[in-house]
Amino acid sequence: MITGTIVKGIAGFYYVKAEDKIYECKARGKFRNTNITPYIGDIVKIIPDESQLTGSIIEILPRKNLLIRPPVANIDQAIIVFAAKSPDPNLQLLDRFLVLIEEQNLDICICINKIDLDIEKDYEEIKSVYERAGYKVILTSTVSNIGIEELKRELMSKTSVFAGPSGVGKSSLLNKVDANLKLKTGDISQKVKRGKHTTRHVELLALSEGGFVLDTPGFSSLSLEHISPDVLQKYFKEFNLYRDYCKFSECSHIHEPQCMIKQKLNEGMIDQGRYERYRFIYNELESAKQRRW
Ligand code: GDP
Repeated sequence: MITGTIVKGIAGFYYVKAEDKIYECKARGKFRNTNITPYIGDIVKIIPDESQLTGSIIEILPRKNLLIRPPVANIDQAIIVFAAKSPDPNLQLLDRFLVLIEEQNLDICICINKIDLDIEKDYEEIKSVYERAGYKVILTSTVSNIGIEELKRELMSKTSVFAGPSGVGKSSLLNKVDANLKLKTGDISQKVKRGKHTTRHVELLALSEGGFVLDTPGFSSLSLEHISPDVLQKYFKEFNLYRDYCKFSECSHIHEPQCMIKQKLNEGMIDQGRYERYRFIYNELESAKQRRW
């Protein structure tokens, strides 16, 4: 019996990577009589057949987590990629990605790519804002070969999902990290065309130096409307340091007096831009809630 990771599933077959080989497996264990379905990312025990090419999955080991969209188990972290230029960074969008991923309770690393295009180095300010909020930020350029080693280290021995808008360089970065991946890169219109004509399966790609990355950018929908406005604050990481000190335990940090978040904002401990984007999203969620009533 050997232990491996399901990297792909097609038509009832699961492809399990174990000891540098891929076994085409059927699910056969006792869990078949339960409601547990194998997911991509599951760590499983298999019994290989004589051919050593096929086998049977007999057990799914306990999951660390399970994402619904994309449907993958045991993700360690999300890498959110933005571009310093082309397209210009949209911090409102970045914060929405952060909220969605914080909600999934994943570790997060922010990667600002294409820094070769930003002569003014405006990305330094963004880096500092998000580092102060408590995130790891990596600056990269696939053109000038900056930050690639640092990103490689971040991915090693972990299972990562990449997130971020189209065209920021996610595929280019992965190709730099591991030349064997050979992901398609290019302009957005071509990718959209390709997307329409090919059937997509979610797949984990094994990195030569250990670890996996998901082949598709996760978190395709950026709708936050399922989140209640009063829990939004939990997903603004830096607020967690102070929110227990507000006068009101239900403080939304918007209208209430003696609010520690607003005090820290005035003291410069919380970034003005982050706070304003919090307020913007809060109001949006509040309106969505009113509409539902
Ligand atoms: P994805 O949609 O996020 O996967 O983005 P791609 O990897 O397909 O890259 C989109 C475009 O940006 C391509 O034309 C790449 O050549 C270009 N690109 C990627 N990384 C960089 C970079 O670091 N600097 C510059 N100048 N262009 C880049």
